[in-house]
Amino acid sequence: MSGRPLLNHRLDGLGTTIFAEMSALATTTGAINLGQGFPDTDGPESVREAAVRALRDGRGNQYPPGPGVPELRTAISDHQRRFYDLTFDPDTEVLVTAGATEAIAATMLALLEPEDEVIAFEPFYDSYAACIAMAGAKRVPLTLHAPSFRPDLDELRSKITPRTRLLLLNTPHNPTGTVLTIEEQSAIAALAVEHDLLVVTDEVYEHLVYEGTHHPIAALPGMRERTVSISSAGKAFSFTGWKVGWVMADAPLVAAVRTAKQYLTYVSSGPFQYAIAEALHLPDAYFDNLRADHRRKRDLLSDGLRAAGFKVFQPAGTYFITTDIRPLGESDGFAFCRALPERAGVVAIPNAVFYDHREEGAPFVRFAFCKRTEVLEEAAKRLKAAW
Ligand code: PMP
Ligand code: GLN
Repeated sequence: MSGRPLLNHRLDGLGTTIFAEMSALATTTGAINLGQGFPDTDGPESVREAAVRALRDGRGNQYPPGPGVPELRTAISDHQRRFYDLTFDPDTEVLVTAGATEAIAATMLALLEPEDEVIAFEPFYDSYAACIAMAGAKRVPLTLHAPSFRPDLDELRSKITPRTRLLLLNTPHNPTGTVLTIEEQSAIAALAVEHDLLVVTDEVYEHLVYEGTHHPIAALPGMRERTVSISSAGKAFSFTGWKVGWVMADAPLVAAVRTAKQYLTYVSSGPFQYAIAEALHLPDAYFDNLRADHRRKRDLLSDGLRAAGFKVFQPAGTYFITTDIRPLGESDGFAFCRALPERAGVVAIPNAVFYDHREEGAPFVRFAFCKRTEVLEEAAKRLKAAW
């Protein structure tokens, strides 16, 4: 073999995801895993049963249709109308994907040319950097600064160049928990219209909002034709392993994304698609309870982290809490998280991995609160005892 590296240069530095690294650490040390964001209890029994029924009835055991099974596409369209008064044609404006992860990948691969610039909020969810890189495009971070972690919209304007193709939004935002206000979204929308930009919005935490309201940017004037909206069943229904996600947009945008998606997985999650179609029709009480339950857990873990000496940035949405470790006399989140399982029996994620400007994220550490109450209480107890 030549001395040439096996991994192509576009993927330089992307290594193993922090979630895999930290979940492995939780397994080997037996620590409580508040790192990778997945619930430790499954979603509704009726939805699980719907998957079993689909499997037994032979629905989805062979390749489902490329765009997703019609029942699910209709349910996604119904869900957008019910919650946001948005209309998407299930046949041409909805595409089912292997989680939001594939939706993001297919969207980037479909819409970007090499050298296009993508503006994304920093800290960004890790797959954004990878997908922009795989498309050969360039990411341009717009840093959300502590303590508010809100976007500076004048700075956003200043980052737009003739090469800017796309704004990549995420609200509610992982890892900071920021929920964009309607005013912020309107200002972003106005910039997108003025500069004729595409907008891709990752809304996987749409049902986990505790302060304020989730506003899909696609509902704002001038946005429907330039926005790709992405969501997923993982967070809303607590079945992250099923990997059912979706894309919603005008037909030409969906057609473009479908072109890329066909050659990634083609299709996925056959029987689970039927189950999620049922889940999306659950009554409002389900979504209200999900939010109330997570709000309680957020408050429980926030109090515990504060009592242990962390500075807590109370999230308005998602199931993550970003903290500052400097009050504990620490400043390097990476070293802190690598030592935390031994020191306290808890696993967390260093936010620095979500930054291009690593130094900006160095003192911040993320804890997931989508865990059983007794697990959160035990984690809080251990953290308090460790300092
Ligand atoms: N976007 C964000 C912001 C996330 O936090 C995650 C992880 N849940 C995803 C996308 C990926 O979602 P999925 O598991 O549906 O692929
Ligand atoms: N979205 C989850 C998180 O932010 C992790 C998903 C993954 O492991 N890729 O923790």
